[in-house]
Amino acid sequence: MLYTSTRDKSIKVKSAQAIAQGISAEGGLFVPCEIPQFSIDKISSMVSMSYIDRAKTVLKEYLTDFSEEELDYCVKGAYSVDKFSSKKIAPTVNIDGNKNILELWHGPTCAFKDMALQLLPYLMTVSAKKTADGKTIVILVATSGDTGKAALEGFKDVDHTKILVFYPVDGVSPMQKLQMTTQEGNNVSVCAINGNFDDAQSAVKAIFTNDDIKAQLAEKKMMFSSANSINWGRLVPQIVYYFSAYCDLIEMGKIKAGDEINAVVPTGNFGNILAGYYAKMMGLPIKTLVCASNSNNVLTDFLKTGTYDRNRAFYTTTSPSMDILISSNLERLLYHMSGCDDTLVKDLMTKLSKDGKYTVSDKLISDIQRVFDAGYTSEENVDNTIKYHFDKYKYLCDTHTAVAVKVYDEYVKETGDDIPTVIDSTASPYKFSASVLNAVLDGNAPELDEFSMVYELNKVTGAEIHKPLASLKSKSVRFTNVCNKEDMSQMVFKLLDL
Ligand SMILES: *Cc1c(COP(=O)(O)O)cnc(C)c1O
Repeated sequence: MLYTSTRDKSIKVKSAQAIAQGISAEGGLFVPCEIPQFSIDKISSMVSMSYIDRAKTVLKEYLTDFSEEELDYCVKGAYSVDKFSSKKIAPTVNIDGNKNILELWHGPTCAFKDMALQLLPYLMTVSAKKTADGKTIVILVATSGDTGKAALEGFKDVDHTKILVFYPVDGVSPMQKLQMTTQEGNNVSVCAINGNFDDAQSAVKAIFTNDDIKAQLAEKKMMFSSANSINWGRLVPQIVYYFSAYCDLIEMGKIKAGDEINAVVPTGNFGNILAGYYAKMMGLPIKTLVCASNSNNVLTDFLKTGTYDRNRAFYTTTSPSMDILISSNLERLLYHMSGCDDTLVKDLMTKLSKDGKYTVSDKLISDIQRVFDAGYTSEENVDNTIKYHFDKYKYLCDTHTAVAVKVYDEYVKETGDDIPTVIDSTASPYKFSASVLNAVLDGNAPELDEFSMVYELNKVTGAEIHKPLASLKSKSVRFTNVCNKEDMSQMVFKLLDL
């Protein structure tokens, strides 16, 4: 299996290089040159497997330059039961009828990013051994909250790696901030920036592709890589849980092998839903992928009209991990859907960075619409959805998941398409305790600090508190750096002692 770049099809690299490098030199994203195909029989054979074996079955088709032993070491290290609070790793829970929730937040940081970021450090160190001849890999991360913590936790004290995380100073929840600023480990740094997530992500991308900075790093035997979902190693682990959820639905008797399902995904950077698209292209019977957004509905507009326009108001919402106006992974979708047209992708991405917008052809958008539907929802509806599902089903979901649940309910109302469906649940409700409690109590949550909020939510709902969040209380803050977005590259030099 070889990988090429969305902006230059002449590039061909193995998976280890794609993962170690993170992003292609000319700024494109690595994509697989072919899509492995899974028959219904093969998918059926995965039903009786553990999550670890399901993961190996999918990953070995993409990471063909990893040996069986290497893959086994990576996957077993990532998805061990002492790191995940569910034996199933990513359990599927039936809510009512055909409505199922895929809980992706049982990992150490209580957000779905753990599904990929527990595995990525293993993939990265094995890849570096194959390709980076002893260099230290410097992971640069821009985060809207959850990636930062999950990456720090995954990479802490991993040999031959350093990790630097940038987050928008006012763009993350108090719990997310505390999770990052108290991070332990000898190879980690965290810095707030005066700006939003898009500012942080654009600056990180610019640093990655700056030849001057790269040369200075090389002199010190270091190289950059990425733990954001622009890295193929972040995306490929996410394909697994779509297969796993499908197998769970068979096991639960909700579907028969071969039946179609829909999948609904609370979306920001378009990584999670794109993994669902890869699963579909591989033969998993997903009929429609529903892209759910909060008030930052740039993707809804794109998927409905074919025009992507980031020139709009940016809203800070109660689902901060989806407060994004530049969804990086859409680039990969455009590449695959346009029949691998690297010239077109390059042109669209140039327009996006120059004018902040682009429009695709009628044919391209109608092809995309055959696979994707989209919707968005307001803050008020998020609160109502949390309350309704808690009152009616005693199911407590976080704000991001609630966006998806609400968009799904609207989708069914509009289309009548109510086949068995998996809704991705991307964070533990405790990670956003204040917002969730306020929703459950109809806006009457008491004024409490973040931790008291966690315990209050537990008292009101009885849902189990996640250990890693409770243990934060006793930790001290290690990182208080703040910088302007223009000064991020200097900060990188400072943090790396260059
Ligand atoms: C990152 C994140 C999302 C968005 O996922 P993308 O892959 O960026 O689309 C949604 N919900 C939560 C809780 C997240 O952390």
